[in-house]
Amino acid sequence: MTEGVIANERPALARSLWVATAHEVPDRPALTGTAEADVVVIGGGFTGLSAALHLAEAGQRVILLEAETPGWGASGRNGGQVNPGLKDTPEETEGRFGADLGGRMVRMTSGSADLVFDLIARHGIDCDAARTGWLRPATSERTLAGLLDVARQWRARGVEVEPLSRAEMARLLGTDAYAGGVIDRRGGNLHPLNYALGLAAAAERHGARICGNSRVTGIEETGEAVTVTTASARVTAKTAIIATNAYTGPLAPPLGKTVVPVTSVQVATAPLGSNIAGTILPEGHSPTDTRRLLLYFRKDAEGRFIMGGRGTMSDGSTRARQKALIRAAEQLYPQLKGAEWPFAWGGHVAITQDHMPGLHRLSPRVLVGLGYNGRGVGMATLMGRILADWAAGRPEDELDFPVTDARPFPFHELRGLGTMAMVASWGLLDRIRP
Ligand SMILES: Cc1cc2nc3c(=O)[nH]c(=O)nc-3n(C[C@H](O)[C@H](O)[C@H](O)COP(=O)(O)OP(=O)(O)OC[C@H]3O[C@@H](n4cnc5c(N)ncnc54)[C@H](O)[C@@H]3O)c2cc1C
Repeated sequence: MTEGVIANERPALARSLWVATAHEVPDRPALTGTAEADVVVIGGGFTGLSAALHLAEAGQRVILLEAETPGWGASGRNGGQVNPGLKDTPEETEGRFGADLGGRMVRMTSGSADLVFDLIARHGIDCDAARTGWLRPATSERTLAGLLDVARQWRARGVEVEPLSRAEMARLLGTDAYAGGVIDRRGGNLHPLNYALGLAAAAERHGARICGNSRVTGIEETGEAVTVTTASARVTAKTAIIATNAYTGPLAPPLGKTVVPVTSVQVATAPLGSNIAGTILPEGHSPTDTRRLLLYFRKDAEGRFIMGGRGTMSDGSTRARQKALIRAAEQLYPQLKGAEWPFAWGGHVAITQDHMPGLHRLSPRVLVGLGYNGRGVGMATLMGRILADWAAGRPEDELDFPVTDARPFPFHELRGLGTMAMVASWGLLDRIRP
């Protein structure tokens, strides 16, 4: 990754602020020949890197194989918003999984932001981490009522999620475009690629071997072992962990069909002068609003403004979405008119059928964690720890997260069209019923 361009990515998704401002990346060459490990991890995003780090800390011999470079996928491209919890509300989760398992899931996933900030502190990861809290501005009185109900559910469980009046929200945002909202004190933000690179370096310091340019093409179980192959290497291990999320593709069918890859895109300005930067998100928050096609925005450590939202699969319409994000930013903050926008990039998030992340055992020695539905900085980091515990021998019923079958989406081939239709209808609904 050089000069702010994501290597081997199509141009509409490649001009990344995070690559342009990343720490120097050490060379991590392809694995060659044969090797042995206790656990082989496939994929070097937050899920795989967190699994490798936790396993290495527990004294396991780990080899991680990444097709490109660590953080190349969604983990090095996202909004860097550390948002705790699952997409479903605590009551929905407990209603669906029962008071015992559901309660344990809510408690554990509620702690995902704690885990991220603890790892950063414990391993001295330099990634502009700021625990500002997560702002949820509401676009209407209707969505405000929904946010207040979720805040009530969290407070009933002893978690600080507080209502904010229209005036207080306007002060923290620097715009009065929203009807108030809530702040979740657990959340915050960071530089996602530097966080991924920091996890990789920490895992290596604990003895994990992290290999770039090592795309896995085959996984084969042979009695007491599993063998994973790349173009230049074979790794034999007791367990394999697949952590390839929206980039799974044809690896280990039907895994890729259990998620729908959906594009999320961002645009960012050059550093704003302090006279303008000081008027926008003056306390460094990273809000996510309540549109169906939600907007997420923030500044980086040097005062660049970043706006993110839903993208599309084709280059032409992705560029149109990126232009629309600039217009949305200027509507919220008219002082941005005339700013330079040198960065426009994006990547794929993995959507699951029930909006729950998937934790699967594909075969006796092959474990999988994926499908964070666009909320993976905290959850993928946590999933990595769950997978590490599982691979190291913790019984399934003690994982505090359900192990489910890997169920493909029906008519997966048509999901791209379905997603495009859904995005169009959500955009329309956002206009007529905010
Ligand atoms: C633009 C954007 C904005 C987002 N914003 C936020 C946000 O602000 N907050 C939030 O919580 N979440 C956000 N997300 C979601 C979050 O980034 C993801 O949920 C999370 O990074 C998933 O991590 P992962 O490790 O599971 O997958 P990824 O980071 O996608 O990593 C998968 C890796 O697997 C590798 N791989 C694939 N196939 C193979 C193979 N055969 N062999 C070896 N390696 C392979 C890929 O190269 C890739 O590096 C955003 C995502 C995007 C794209």
